[in-house]
Amino acid sequence: MSTACANDSLLTSINPANGEVVGSIAFTPVEHVARMVQQAHAAQQTWGALSLRERAEILRPAAARLTQEAARLGDLASRELGKPLAEAVGEATYTATAFAQEIDQIVDALADITRADARTTSILRHAPLGVCAAITPWNFPILMPHQSVLPALIAGNTVLLKPSEETTLVACEYASILNEFLPHGVLTMVIGDGTQGRALVLSDVNLIVFTGSRETGKRILSDAGPSLKRVILELGGKDPLIVLDDADLDLAAAFAVRNSFRNAGQVCVSTERIYVDAAVRAEFLAKMVEKTAALKQGDPSEETTTVGPMVNARQKAKVVAQIDAAIAAGATVLAGGSAGSGNFIAPTILANVNHTMEIMREETFGPVACVQKFDSLDEAVRLANDTPFGLGAAVFGRDVARAEGIAARINTGMVGVNQGCGGADGCPWVGAKDSGYGFHSGPEGHRQFAQVRVISRPV
Ligand code: NAD
Repeated sequence: MSTACANDSLLTSINPANGEVVGSIAFTPVEHVARMVQQAHAAQQTWGALSLRERAEILRPAAARLTQEAARLGDLASRELGKPLAEAVGEATYTATAFAQEIDQIVDALADITRADARTTSILRHAPLGVCAAITPWNFPILMPHQSVLPALIAGNTVLLKPSEETTLVACEYASILNEFLPHGVLTMVIGDGTQGRALVLSDVNLIVFTGSRETGKRILSDAGPSLKRVILELGGKDPLIVLDDADLDLAAAFAVRNSFRNAGQVCVSTERIYVDAAVRAEFLAKMVEKTAALKQGDPSEETTTVGPMVNARQKAKVVAQIDAAIAAGATVLAGGSAGSGNFIAPTILANVNHTMEIMREETFGPVACVQKFDSLDEAVRLANDTPFGLGAAVFGRDVARAEGIAARINTGMVGVNQGCGGADGCPWVGAKDSGYGFHSGPEGHRQFAQVRVISRPV
């Protein structure tokens, strides 16, 4: 940890933009975790006995409280991870605004379903699983806990939330708002890093909902395997953008810049690789460079800042190492490329890249857009699929049928045509390949938080 550094008993959160202490909180002693899980099992007996609608109505007033507190939570999130203030407040506001509708969607998804044939009538019931461990990353420090906690609770599980050590304080504030309404012991915080996370995974929990890196996901799967715990894994990405020869290049370049540099590239569906038709490469690159020059990197608390720092020195070093290796192997720097002071990395565009470079295959999670040309559609698809990851992707082209045809050949969970990869309301947020299995949102996502039971009788 560098933004969150520990003495023996305190986790201290440090602003990565200026090194100031944001606050500190006591670590959960690892030896307490098993007992906390037992207490959560006890609380689950009462919570799980309520009806789906009763649980939903207990949580519903939390939406208004979250709205009241959105500015404060956004400010805290901005200081903990260096996200520009407007984006951090936007995350808190989005979480609060979507809250009520999400409750309704979860209730709909988990309601009983009746199936009947000539002999038998069956009810599919979505019963609680028991105790859920929610382990979350730092890059969306309000939304990620929320998307794990809300469906788990409404499904009738009790939850132990172990947020990232980088953004623990804001996650605690989010949980304390829910706890104004929840019965005691239904939602409990576990404070710490991978040590506390691992203790939770090894404890007597029934469901592990994890969002984070592929490497941690593999460790969790391995630790959860011997006891056959149910695991939901939302992991990293290496999203491609394909720019076809008929694309609206202003639109495509604006998307590329926004989606590569938002949150300093620390977004699971950041555009990290761009494949552009050779016929429009020069024009597209010129537009990208121009739009990148208009970004303002600096103090995240200033209204006009669009790009903040890396979350910590370790993340910066990882990104700089990928950039430097690519440049040493022949990549051309069209913007940024230099390390910058403190935890900052200037928004960087690299051209003349190829797939022998690590930066074209493995997640970067920094403000770097790599641009490679293609000479045929088959080549574009082959390059887009040449990564272990498969979270999101985008294809830009005016002939929508042709662009959709390309999109269908990209092996990711989500693909956007002339837009980002997020789907309409009610769609899951889903990955393929090393981006994990198990996913959030939509009826398909919400039902993973419950045990399906089939109760049958003669017609
Ligand atoms: P990380 O894997 O380092 O940590 C995630 C969480 O796991 C933290 O709370 C951490 O303390 C905990 N942890 C670490 N070791 C553990 C262990 N052995 N057992 C249990 N818990 C453990 O990830 P990060 O750096 O916090 O987040 C960035 C990663 O998250 C990126 O790869 C990004 O793509 C991914 N991400 C994915 C999505 C998605 O929707 N697919 C969304 C956001 C972030």
